[in-house]
Amino acid sequence: IRENLVRTEKLEAVEQMGAAISHEIRNPLTAAIGFVQLLQEQKLPPRKRLEYLTIVKAELESAEQVIQNYLTFSKPALDKIEEINVKKELIQVINILKPTANQNSVEINSNFALLGSIEGDRQKFHQCFLNVIKNAIEAMPRGGQLYIETQYSSTHITIEIKDTGVGMTPEQLQRLGEPYYSTKGSKGTGLGMMVVFSIVRAMEGSVQVKSEIGIGTVFRFSFPAHKPD
Ligand code: ADP
Ligand code: MG
Repeated sequence: IRENLVRTEKLEAVEQMGAAISHEIRNPLTAAIGFVQLLQEQKLPPRKRLEYLTIVKAELESAEQVIQNYLTFSKPALDKIEEINVKKELIQVINILKPTANQNSVEINSNFALLGSIEGDRQKFHQCFLNVIKNAIEAMPRGGQLYIETQYSSTHITIEIKDTGVGMTPEQLQRLGEPYYSTKGSKGTGLGMMVVFSIVRAMEGSVQVKSEIGIGTVFRFSFPAHKPD
């Protein structure tokens, strides 16, 4: 009986995930297909072609991101431990999100400490900050300022991500990281922050969040500094 119970629970989890995946992935894929069709059918000026291709790429990346979040959530792979250059990694994430920031008229201001590396799985670190910075940009649909700042000491590296976006109520803040909790309707999966918190925990880091409606949100991360041997 117990085995049956476990099976049913697993089946439900798979069904729930299947439904969410088909929904969250179908939207960006449908958009991508639509633009590929436009690219195929019409004689477009080069500027338009480039614009459409940029959209296709962004939509495919968005679908990829949904899958990546599900994988991290459902099957936490063994962490590779490597030295992570915080500045270098964050710059990569910023470059990926620049088109989205531009679309939302979000200005990115960064201020990186010269030094600073931590230990952990580089890919997961990348995913963690992709999720956080993407949320920050999405919180500013009518534009705003995004600040990304790092500091280091001999023991800790701190990373601060601050936006001038919509902010969260204390209740929303409380629910942050709950599976499937999203205020973005069909545009959200509600998995991003759950993945963020699980990655931070795995890397022995900590995170503080402060938010005020209409003012913005600050995420402050702290990770143990890498000790060269
Ligand atoms: P999703 O982005 O798919 O909605 P997340 O887990 O990434 O799911 O985020 C959950 C919710 O947390 C969001 O829907 C949003 O309401 C809130 N949130 C996260 N980051 C911010 C932020 N920087 N500003 C305001 N709200 C945020
Ligand atoms: Mg998100």
